[in-house]
Amino acid sequence: MHELSLATDVINLVTEEARKNGLSGIQEVLIEVGDLSGVEADAFQWALELLTKETILGKAEIRLNRSPGTGICKSCEREFEMRNRLDSCPGCGSFPSEIRGGQEFRVISMVGE
Ligand SMILES: [Zn+2]
Repeated sequence: MHELSLATDVINLVTEEARKNGLSGIQEVLIEVGDLSGVEADAFQWALELLTKETILGKAEIRLNRSPGTGICKSCEREFEMRNRLDSCPGCGSFPSEIRGGQEFRVISMVGE
């Protein structure tokens, strides 16, 4: 599953950062997951919980910050929020001619000791 390898990447990244900063435990990690990034947030959270048990993240609270995308419809010049890649314009039903944002997938911050 895609989310398992993403979770492994995040754990590796956080573990490496913790090592560089001399942290022995992580309390909190905040991760931004765009609604259009192709990452299934629930599956990703599940994968993290499964994989972090024996790691430095074992006791960490993992928070996902979901961010929507913005679709821009050239037919009726409307901008609208997209929670799904296949969302169409609420005004005229067209698919957006341009999509901004919503693709993010990154670790925003971590708190450790
Ligand atoms: Zn439209």
